[in-house]
Amino acid sequence: MANSFSLDHLVEALQYVIGFKGNNVVLHEPEFKANELKYVQECLETGWVSSAGKFVDEFEAKISSYTGAKYAVAVVNGTSGLHLALIEAGVLPGDEVLCPALTFVATANAVSYCGAVPHFVDSSESTMGLDPAALSDYLSRVAEPFSGGYRNRKTGRRLAAILPMHTFGHPVDISGLLDLAKKYCLEIVEDAAEALGSWIGSRHVGTYGRSGVFSFNGNKIITTGGGGAIITNDLRCAQRLKHLSTTAKKSYGFSFVHDEIGFNYRLPNINAALGCAQMESLPDILSRKRELASRYKKVFSSISSVRFMDEPVGCRSNFWLNTIYHPFISEEERDELLNSVITAGFHCRPVWRLLSRLSIFSHCPRGPLPVAEALEKGLINLPSSPKLTER
Ligand SMILES: *Cc1c(COP(=O)(O)O)cnc(C)c1O
Repeated sequence: MANSFSLDHLVEALQYVIGFKGNNVVLHEPEFKANELKYVQECLETGWVSSAGKFVDEFEAKISSYTGAKYAVAVVNGTSGLHLALIEAGVLPGDEVLCPALTFVATANAVSYCGAVPHFVDSSESTMGLDPAALSDYLSRVAEPFSGGYRNRKTGRRLAAILPMHTFGHPVDISGLLDLAKKYCLEIVEDAAEALGSWIGSRHVGTYGRSGVFSFNGNKIITTGGGGAIITNDLRCAQRLKHLSTTAKKSYGFSFVHDEIGFNYRLPNINAALGCAQMESLPDILSRKRELASRYKKVFSSISSVRFMDEPVGCRSNFWLNTIYHPFISEEERDELLNSVITAGFHCRPVWRLLSRLSIFSHCPRGPLPVAEALEKGLINLPSSPKLTER
């Protein structure tokens, strides 16, 4: 393949990797090939379909044993998980939470649900997640000491937490963020929605912060239809999360009270049943996704203007969405390319619009975002379903 990058190259590369099935190849498809039907049927036959039942406990146990986190709390979706995790971390109305501009809207929505304000900061070109060096430089200019912590000297609002996101399954540079959190008295909640099956060294993502949140939406690495889970190593954190997710209900014999305004964020048993079966398939899904990623990596290594986004050094990525980066493409060229590729039957897509550019967040503070802006223009997600290795 030639050096410059054109439609022909992308279609050729996709056909080479996926085969000539260029006929509605979607971005990420779920797979139900194991015990899904059996477990869901068991729910229907026993009547345990709703917010209590053995599959919820089993699913939580499977998540905690797989990730090595001491505790897991299943919730209705990843967004509600982020909401609870931020409340539990002490984020209060009027606070600011440092988060990437380059992420799915749910990251910043969860901050807003707390009455807090997302404060957008830049990403790193190698991980596509928050850049600790840029954040360190920025905080040294923007943060000032304030009643035991730090506040934004421009807005006067307390800086409460960092909410990093593991982009497309590639782990963020967490060690630099942990140092900054310590220095500036910030809690870390990890948005690991896309990153079940991703590791930094020998430790699973989501176990570095105070808590970490997964999503099991239909397009994620495994699915419960809709669902999520929060993991933590702290017993009191886990207990508070469970309490908040179950309407803050306290039982006293046959009666009960609600001791704070809680939420109905429990994962129904029927969804957890699906999750238990999916967890059994996770190792197989991950190994096929790794195989697909290595095929993409190989084919794109011969096109010098485009970079395949590989897992960061020392990390193991789940390769949730395979991604290429074309640093010099314009938005118009990119959209033209995407239109033609989609017409050829391959559903590629650009990355999210930076949240800092959405009018719903126009009031939010932000640091300089040069890398996020470049990534926004040049990143393209490729079809990534595990079944695409079967050609
Ligand atoms: C999917 C996703 C979420 C939200 O998960 P839902 O289960 O859809 O609520 C949050 N953050 C990121 C980065 C995601 O990709």
